[in-house]
Amino acid sequence: MTDSNLKIPYLSIIIPVYNERNNLIPLEDKLDRELKKLNLSYEIIFIDDGSNDGSLHLIESMQKHNPLIRFIQFGHNHGQSAAFAAGFKAARGNIFVTLDADLQNNPADIPLLLEKIKDYDVVCGWRHKRNDPWIKRVSSKIGNAVRNRLSEEEIADTGCSLKAFRRECFDNVKLFKGMHRFFPTLMKMEGFRVTQVKVSHHPRLHGESKYNIRNRLFSSFHDLLAIRWMKKRKINYDIIKED
Ligand code: UDP
Ligand code: MG
Repeated sequence: MTDSNLKIPYLSIIIPVYNERNNLIPLEDKLDRELKKLNLSYEIIFIDDGSNDGSLHLIESMQKHNPLIRFIQFGHNHGQSAAFAAGFKAARGNIFVTLDADLQNNPADIPLLLEKIKDYDVVCGWRHKRNDPWIKRVSSKIGNAVRNRLSEEEIADTGCSLKAFRRECFDNVKLFKGMHRFFPTLMKMEGFRVTQVKVSHHPRLHGESKYNIRNRLFSSFHDLLAIRWMKKRKINYDIIKED
């Protein structure tokens, strides 16, 4: 291990990867360029979520010339929430920034999040101009509206992976499958201050989306009911005196 491996960085960039081979080199290029401008210490953690397209091999070769890269390899595909959970556990920074590996999120937007996190605990990216097929745009609009209604929330775009968190946000939160779509609500339940900021969004140039209406609708609706239940049944009490 070199010295730079041992230093505690300010920022941990956490990126789940599932079959993103052709996106990884341009992503690293862009991240490298943008992060160097910030003049902050950082680490980049790739979580390979059971890829079978050689993504991990590429990550390992990127790590050889960039010691700020770390990785976790899953034996199977465990899903995006599991990948985030493993990334948060391994992360050493004070601030965690999450983003997708497919360059649909733009690393150039990271400073917008860092600026806002000075006054908040969680900053959620809001893809106000989505660059996805219309079916995805419409289903996501409906999904966000239903989610906000049933969970009594006001988050415009909870599906945007580009988010920043103070590390304490995850101290007491237990994550479950599918929960990555509800991070803002989970954090608010813990008393953290959550805000959102408009970010850019780009079409996917390489590889395929891992989600479609079929594999998202039913499971995320169940997850929504679970969150709604958790929110309603959260234990609150006020102590007047204690001896
Ligand atoms: N991803 C993952 N495990 C999965 C599904 C997705 O790690 O089981 C990663 C994927 O590689 C990408 C991010 O999560 O970096 C978002 O996935 P995708 O781009 O397919 O979602 P979309 O943008 O189409 O909603
Ligand atoms: Mg994507």
